[in-house]
Amino acid sequence: MLVDNKNIVIMGVANKWSIAWGIANKMIENNANLIFTYLEERNKISIEKLLEKENYTNYMLVKLDVTIDEDYENAFKMIKEKYGHIDGMVHSVAFAKKEELSGNYFDTSREGYLLSQNISSYSFVKASKHASDLMNEKGQIICLTYLGGERVVLNYNVMGVAKASLEASVKYLAHDLGKRNIRVNAISSGPIKTTSAKGVGEFSKLMDGFIKKAPMGRLVNHEDLGNTALYLLSDLSSGVTGENIHVDCGYSVLGY
Ligand code: NAD
Repeated sequence: MLVDNKNIVIMGVANKWSIAWGIANKMIENNANLIFTYLEERNKISIEKLLEKENYTNYMLVKLDVTIDEDYENAFKMIKEKYGHIDGMVHSVAFAKKEELSGNYFDTSREGYLLSQNISSYSFVKASKHASDLMNEKGQIICLTYLGGERVVLNYNVMGVAKASLEASVKYLAHDLGKRNIRVNAISSGPIKTTSAKGVGEFSKLMDGFIKKAPMGRLVNHEDLGNTALYLLSDLSSGVTGENIHVDCGYSVLGY
């Protein structure tokens, strides 16, 4: 029970395929108190159904559209009122317009560029500020990123650039919050079929290529990501901050 009775905010469960749901499941197994933020009413209903199946009742659900400043204020105020403090936050939120996720990167529109940065990267900065205000010592913050932030991945385009800025934010936030013993890390996941991932051009082809090349010869799964999140959200990773841990069956070590 590495996160026994810890209050953890999970941002980004849309449905059972969401990476955030894999992480939430692992937290439930380990007796955490979960607070879910959601974007739309249908996400809220999905989360309630998923939790009912797990017989998990010890949770809070709060709306947070990451593009709306007042939503952060309201959400974290409500969380403070109910829990007093939080121990961890998982940011698993991203968005880019489908038309920006294929073709040439140089065709990216200003609007599309700013939108993906706003939702996928700036939101992490803003949420970390609010979350860390409610954290005591040993708080932990994590986000989800992808290899396309470090290297060119076909069609990932504007989202790759948003991930690059997200990964840089991890380091700057780790620096800001380190003095308060709050740690900030990223998990770089291999490709997983989720609602968001399906928006990336030729995603199935990318997954096929991944299985053929990854040293472990398979895709990553929710369990792999939940395990690493558990490590990062617990004291097992007590000396680790500003890191980007690749959970990708070894794919990122390849040079071919
Ligand atoms: P997903 O579609 O299940 O999750 C994305 C979430 O972002 C959804 O819950 C959606 O509601 C939320 N979101 C979008 N706009 C929002 C807004 N304005 N306000 C609040 N929430 C908003 O997809 P996923 O693949 O589980 O994505 C989760 C994270 O994992 C993302 O950061 C993604 O880039 C990252 N990731 C995914 C993969 C993959 O292959 N699926 C690989 C590496 C990293």
